[in-house]
This record gives sequence, structure tokens and C-alpha cells, in this order.
Amino acid sequence: MNPIPHITLLPGDGIGPEVTAATHSILVDAGLSATFSTHAIGWAEWCAHGEPLPSDTLDAVRTSAATLMGAITSKPEADAARELAPHLRDRGVRYRSPIVRLRRELDLYACLRPARAWPGVPCIHPDTNILTVRESTEGLYCGIELDNLDTERAAMIHYDLATLCERTTGRIALSARITTDHASRRIVRAAFEQARLRALARNAPARVTLLEKPNILRATGSVMLDAARAVAADFPDVALEIENIDAACMHAAMDPTRYAVVVAENLFGDIFSDLAAGLSGGPGLAPSASIGDTHALFEPVHGSAPDIAGRNIANPIAAILSGAMLARHINQPDVAERIERAVARTLADAPPSTLTPDLKGTGSTQSLTDTIRRNLWSNDDKRVGSDTATQ
Ligand code: ATP
Repeated sequence: MNPIPHITLLPGDGIGPEVTAATHSILVDAGLSATFSTHAIGWAEWCAHGEPLPSDTLDAVRTSAATLMGAITSKPEADAARELAPHLRDRGVRYRSPIVRLRRELDLYACLRPARAWPGVPCIHPDTNILTVRESTEGLYCGIELDNLDTERAAMIHYDLATLCERTTGRIALSARITTDHASRRIVRAAFEQARLRALARNAPARVTLLEKPNILRATGSVMLDAARAVAADFPDVALEIENIDAACMHAAMDPTRYAVVVAENLFGDIFSDLAAGLSGGPGLAPSASIGDTHALFEPVHGSAPDIAGRNIANPIAAILSGAMLARHINQPDVAERIERAVARTLADAPPSTLTPDLKGTGSTQSLTDTIRRNLWSNDDKRVGSDTATQ
């Protein structure tokens, strides 16, 4: 008999604890067979202890079958220094985003962000159903950054940069975009596999659109393009299209049905998936899965939303749908299906008094969660289906 899987919960900051509690309760009520433990992460940990990712949290994530995260607050360098506990200042501790670190430590290289419109939810494009597969370990998020460059340091990096330093007065900073063949190939492969799954589920042709900017970002862009073409050779049944990221954003805003599965490096994937979420119903409905070969972390796409934190008005659905993706990942697809069906039913039928304000309702996080809970075991057998599989 398989051991019962263990799930690490990381509520985090802002609305993170509210949406995580809602998701935990829905997973339990939907019949997920798992044990849970809760661990600290985020801005509050940084302010109090100078470490937003405590080592026992990292250990828990490493040893669990999957992790569910709420949201974390990240702020610019100056705020990090200002809000750090006084006794920790001037000790050389530096804030590093815990989620970026988690992705790197656990090699969670593929971030799957499905964005779909839901019947009953007004949105810009009711035909939107796009899966963004975002590379999560490199690109501009790799943390290779230099501030206050002088000519001497600049000369060590690039001749043109030294010239720029000579000619410019005032502060100059540099953030590097790194693209490796290894990471490009594996993210494209992940996208092709997802495209196959979607095509199978819909009995439709499989296609992947790679979003890049190789005409301007020539070196890094061509690594990604070459990798994509090489991987495509192993998937003769999946069509590969290549488009510039800026043009794709415009095309998606006009006609999102042009896209089914898109794959992109870190920043481009981040931006495009937010656009897709915006087209299809807003931040409260967009889930995500960060997948590696050995670990997986699930979280809503939205951030910690400090403007509405602690007011019981955050929409928990993005987190709950992330929980459904988690259930599917740990091989409990019936639980995932039950949750997705309950969400669909709630969005289609629930009165405004139960919905959160972002859904034009007058209800709360609690009332929306309770409605989803009631719909978990209803007899409506309408299949919602998911197009993402993480195993
Ligand atoms: P962070 O710096 O943590 O990313 P942010 O405010 O920049 O925070 P989000 O947290 O994603 O970014 O919030 C963007 C907007 O979307 C805010 O107005 C927020 O209130 C809203 N929002 C985000 N998540 C939700 C949610 N679950 N329910 C309702 N509104 C949300």
C-alpha cells in the first residue's frame, strides 16, 4: 500500500493565510488522502529574523510529496533594509526572494499557468483557454545583477558597457538574462508534453507557441529557438509556432483563441500568463503549478494583495484550483475533478451574495469557500476536466 502523502502548507503573507486556509479545508472535504503541516515563509520572516525562507521550511518542502503556498510579499531593496528588525541591520543580511530561491533549490523549472474563462464570470474574452508554460530557473530572474557600475567594472563585462559608463553620469545598473540550452530544451519538452495532453483531451491538433524576442535579444533568443526546434523534432505530432512576445500580447488581447499552449522564458512567461489571466477573469481565478523532476509547488498566480489582506474578501478560487492541480499531481484525479466541478458550479450558479467583490459579489472569502464546499458532493456530473497533468 502507498504511504499517505504529506503536504506542506506555506500560507505566507497578506491574503496568503486566508486563501491557504480555504484551500486546505476544501482539499480535506473533497476527500484528499494526505497529511498536512504548516510552515513559515515570507516577508514577516524576513522582518523578524532576516531570513524569508527558514531552513526548517526548506527541509519540509524537500521531504513532502507536494507543497501548497498562499502568497508572499516581496519589496524593493530599500524597503527590505528599512523593515528589517533593528538588531539585524548592518549585519550584511540581504533579502532574496524565497520563491525564486525555492524554485532554484528544488529545481522547479516548469511553471504551468492555465488561464481559462468560466461560464458565469464576466470577462474580456470568454473563449480564453491558454496554458502558459513558463521557464522558472533562469532568464532575467537569475539574480545576476550589478548596481552602481563604474567604467572599470563595466569594462570587465562588455566594451560597449564601459563606453556607456564613460558617457553617462549618474547611476547605472545591469540585470543579466541567462539562457541555457539545457533549461530551454527541458521547458520546451514540458510544453510539448502538455500540448499532447490537451490535444488528447479535446481531440484537437496539438500545438505549441514559443514566445521570444530573438530579433533583439539575439544571443539568448537564439539559444531558446534552436532548443525549441531540436525538441520539436521529437514531437512530429505537435506543431511548433514561434512568435515575438510583444506581438503575441497584442494578438492575445484581440483573439486569445490563437493560443493553446505557449512556452516562454521566465519574464515573458510571467507577463503573458498575467495577460491571459486578465483576459479570462482576473487574478482571483488563476492557479499555477511549479514542477521539477522531484518536487512540485502549487500556488495562485496572484500576489499577497496587501490592499485587501485581513478583510475576508480575497477570492480563494485561484488557490483552490491550485489545490486541485496538487491533488492531480499526487495521483488523486478524482479529488481534483470534484474540486474543479464544484468551482465551475459555484461560478455558474452562486448568487452574488456569496461571491467575493472581485467577482462583483457582496460575499466574503468564507461565504465563497462554503458555497464551493456545498457543491463538492452535489450530483451534477458535468465534467470540467483539466488540461494539465504534472506527472
Ligand atoms: P505582491 O507584491 O505581493 O505581488 P501586488 O499587490 O503587487 O502584491 P497582487 O497581490 O497580485 O499584486 O494584487 C494585484 C491586484 O489584484 C490587487 O488590487 C489585489 O487586490 C488584486 N487581487 C490579487 N489577488 C486577489 C484575490 N485572490 N482576490 C481578489 N483580488 C485579488
